[in-house]
Amino acid sequence: MNLEPIKQAVRRAVALCVTVQQHHLIANEKVGAEPVTIADYGSQALICETISREFPSDAVLAEESGAQFIEVVDAAQRGEIVGLIAVTLGHTVSEDDVVGWLDYGKGAASNRTWVIDPIDGTKGFLGLRHYAVAVGIVEDGQPVGGVMGCPAYPGYEGGALLWTWGGEVWIEPISGGEAKQVRASALADPANIRIMESVEKSHAAFDRMAKVREYAGMVDSPFERIDSMEKYARIAAGDGELYLRLPRTGSGRPHAAWDHAAGVALVLAGGGRATDVDGSPLDFSKGRNLPNQGMVVSNGVIHDRVLAAVQQLLEEEEAELSS
Ligand code: AMP
Ligand code: MG
Repeated sequence: MNLEPIKQAVRRAVALCVTVQQHHLIANEKVGAEPVTIADYGSQALICETISREFPSDAVLAEESGAQFIEVVDAAQRGEIVGLIAVTLGHTVSEDDVVGWLDYGKGAASNRTWVIDPIDGTKGFLGLRHYAVAVGIVEDGQPVGGVMGCPAYPGYEGGALLWTWGGEVWIEPISGGEAKQVRASALADPANIRIMESVEKSHAAFDRMAKVREYAGMVDSPFERIDSMEKYARIAAGDGELYLRLPRTGSGRPHAAWDHAAGVALVLAGGGRATDVDGSPLDFSKGRNLPNQGMVVSNGVIHDRVLAAVQQLLEEEEAELSS
């Protein structure tokens, strides 16, 4: 499959996000507990416009919707984003076009689904930290490909674009330049691996994950909090070894497929592992939500050690509950 059009769409989407960040008042409407900005809609519309031209019979599962765009964004801001999309595409665009792209491919019957998070880590985007534009490809329930734009990826002025298809992972400067093939690192020393977790404490259980790091002998390891799926990208590219994501105790919030599909595809193709807390694969066959209890994502080498530490935590929690 030729991913070039999708790579181009992700480059354009990132450029639109940067423009909104620099020049526009950002609409910060709360939908549920999470913010959404006009750039989320612009990014999704640009990516889905490409899918509608290049892969018209494929299914799309994307975070935002046309109805929500009309409902939560006021007319003036809708006009702004429609204008930005028109400038990006180089032709006139109507609000109806945008709504149509936002909902393109929703519920289509196809064995291939494009799983899109137009801005993952919106809080990072708003806070001028890290975020990602992520497009995963799920075929017959398997995350087999993807493209991810990471505007704050370290070492890449303007950010990095990563993509995977056919079991290879590539990275290039998002603003253009030579692509290089990458893979997960071979680092095995638990005291030296680079560990990543969420910035937002409402997103994952900091206390539980700290215990896992302790049990796995990783208290002194380099540690960083970063927003977004960039955590997956770094592991796939050999720029990190462990990403832990355990839900807060009692959290009823499911893990959304679009928060993980592109990242998991990158990590698996790069030779790493991405599993549930019991080591089973993440299950992308169920649509919007992943049925698993958490994510353990690693370069592979250190995976079993971390799973054992997670199991120790779970047993301890179980014992506390029954005492
Ligand atoms: P991160 O930047 O890694 O914390 O991940 C950001 C993503 O986590 C966003 O797409 C949020 O919608 C999602 N998110 C927020 N809260 C939760 C939660 N309690 N459980 C799972 N995902 C969440
Ligand atoms: Mg997200």
